[in-house]
Amino acid sequence: MESIFEVDVASRCHCGIRCVLKTSWTNENLGRRFLGCYNYRVAGGCNYFKWVDHPVPPRENELITTLLRRCEESERKRHMAENKLQTFDEDMKKLHNEMVGREEKLSDIMYVAGVMNYEEMNELLLDILHHNDAFSDE
Ligand SMILES: [Zn+2]
Repeated sequence: MESIFEVDVASRCHCGIRCVLKTSWTNENLGRRFLGCYNYRVAGGCNYFKWVDHPVPPRENELITTLLRRCEESERKRHMAENKLQTFDEDMKKLHNEMVGREEKLSDIMYVAGVMNYEEMNELLLDILHHNDAFSDE
């Protein structure tokens, strides 16, 4: 099925080569397509030019301008969000490293606490007390 956007690009420019379909992005002709020389920007090209689409009505031109501006705004916001996310990721990495460091310290404390449990500390204290009694009897 043929689309209304399809264009027969069989036309040839003054150089005798097939034209290329381009889209104008000037304020007056936003989105309006035209045929041009394939080699327009290089030496040896010609200045063949032919509009494909009808002129853009002012109202549509205004709408396209508005939509383009919104696209640019969305792109800008997306970029800002990406930067924020990157900063957040870096903060999370720092916090993670800090947590790992604290976990290691806690693990050391738990190890010491495990070696010196309540009964062992009690025995040690009794030994010390007994020792003191022995000294006081002399
Ligand atoms: Zn040409």
